[in-house]
Amino acid sequence: MTSCPEEITLRKAAERGVLGRCPCCGKGVLFARYLKQVDNCAACGEQFGGLRADDAAPWLTIIVVGHIFLPLVFMVDLTSIMPVWAELTLWSAVFTLLSLVMLPRAKGVMLAVLWQTRATGEPTIVS
Ligand SMILES: [Zn+2]
Repeated sequence: MTSCPEEITLRKAAERGVLGRCPCCGKGVLFARYLKQVDNCAACGEQFGGLRADDAAPWLTIIVVGHIFLPLVFMVDLTSIMPVWAELTLWSAVFTLLSLVMLPRAKGVMLAVLWQTRATGEPTIVS
């Protein structure tokens, strides 16, 4: 499945994936659009069309945004300078934006992990 000429470590693949770069060569892009992965790397030809990250990217986004950044909301009290409805609106906008920024990076990491471990993301039947 992989035609990468060199062995790439999981860490290196994940670093390239989070940047939206090909985990093999680090030069080609991993996404054709916002969350649409390319079938092949334009630089090295590595195949990514068969990889399925499915719900892993939203899961990782929820973990990072919900469990790391959300506690910051409880530490910052803005009610002294703005009404509660404005604070709720502000935090909703911040977390929506944060999630939209995080999602393609999370998918890049998941695709890189699937690629490096040579897992396709296809379900396996264990009998
Ligand atoms: Zn490449």
